[in-house]
Amino acid sequence: MTLESLSQSTPITLIKPETEVVQKTDLLGMDREAMQAYFTEIGEKPFRATQVMKWIHQFGVSDFDEMTNLSKALRDKLKQVANVRTPKIVAEEHSDDGTIKWLLEVDNNNAIEVVFIPEKNRGTLCISSQVGCALECTFCSTGQQGFNRNLENWEIIAQVWVANKALGCKPKEERIISNVVFMGMGEPLLNVKHVFPVARILMDDYAYGLSKRRVTISTSGVVPAIDMIKSELDVSLAISLHAPNDELRDILVPVNKKYPLAVLMPSLYRYVEGGHSKKHVTIEYVMLDKVNDHLEHAHQLVELLGDLPCKVNLIPFNPFPNTEYQRSSNNAIHRFRAILEEGGLQVTVRKTRGDDIDAACGQLAGKVSDRTKRTLHRVEFDTK
Ligand code: SAH
Ligand code: SF4
Repeated sequence: MTLESLSQSTPITLIKPETEVVQKTDLLGMDREAMQAYFTEIGEKPFRATQVMKWIHQFGVSDFDEMTNLSKALRDKLKQVANVRTPKIVAEEHSDDGTIKWLLEVDNNNAIEVVFIPEKNRGTLCISSQVGCALECTFCSTGQQGFNRNLENWEIIAQVWVANKALGCKPKEERIISNVVFMGMGEPLLNVKHVFPVARILMDDYAYGLSKRRVTISTSGVVPAIDMIKSELDVSLAISLHAPNDELRDILVPVNKKYPLAVLMPSLYRYVEGGHSKKHVTIEYVMLDKVNDHLEHAHQLVELLGDLPCKVNLIPFNPFPNTEYQRSSNNAIHRFRAILEEGGLQVTVRKTRGDDIDAACGQLAGKVSDRTKRTLHRVEFDTK
């Protein structure tokens, strides 16, 4: 038998040393452009990318063998070189009001929380962008916990993937998750490298197909990244304002020292500039008893917001262990709201949801292992 005929008739098994680990490419966190580039790189047609995206995000499939419109050869190839890594659900809690909270393990030491809030006309998923947060807002449980690390694309979109699957969402049926908000743990605009591709996946018709009005990034005011939203990513914007003057905001939202109101406010005007007639900013304002709920603060807020197209969302403070703050009384919230409305602002008061399972705004804690990386002065805005 010649060497040539041997190679044709007998499959040769290459035994790799046990220590060699083949690094597989993770497909869950790729936006369409990245996925198409990947398929081209492995010698496949770009349209395979959108087929695979549909399987992963619309049908919740992570096993290539279930992707039945791909050839057997391609499925086998993908099994060799790629994977769809998904996190482990460590806990699932249900609130009396229908809110659901999942705790997802993202690595051996850290876990993050994701919350689904069902309402009459919509279902909102609140997702996390970092393990902890370095910005140390004094009224926020996540901020008080410290910071461990940025979440990667797959870890962020996995929250939607897991919730979609757990809620039994099906393509072509009415959306159970109709809105996604980056209001869980972390400051999304200090992790734009991973948050922006995820926002694109959320809005991609081959994935979740949400409109830009239904994807909201909430930020404490990282101004350079607000400008990047304007130029690179068309999504809805919410600003955690919480105080109408620098003196108070420096205490409540310490990133204000870096980007004070005189810098933040013009960036909001730039964001709405040139947009459609309904384009606006959501202004979030947590109601803290006798701290930022004085009538004088309401008047200052009217003045500060001027003619910015915006909607103000008053958030009754949600307490957490060892906090020094208390929620404003209903009366105080009512009076505050009335002054804003007299000043011509559109105002809503956020209904507290899921507080019996610690799933309300600012109560998310997850599991942050190494908290030593906190400190505001080391927080740098980094787009890479
Ligand atoms: N880091 C981003 C997004 C996560 S916080 C940001 O700050 O915008 C999501 C929202 O919950 C923010 O408006 C935040 O200020 C608010 N929040 C934080 N702690 C809260 C608490 N204890 N009670 C009510 N709202 C809170
Ligand atoms: Fe971070 Fe937002 Fe909490 Fe501030 S409110 S500490 S920015 S998560």
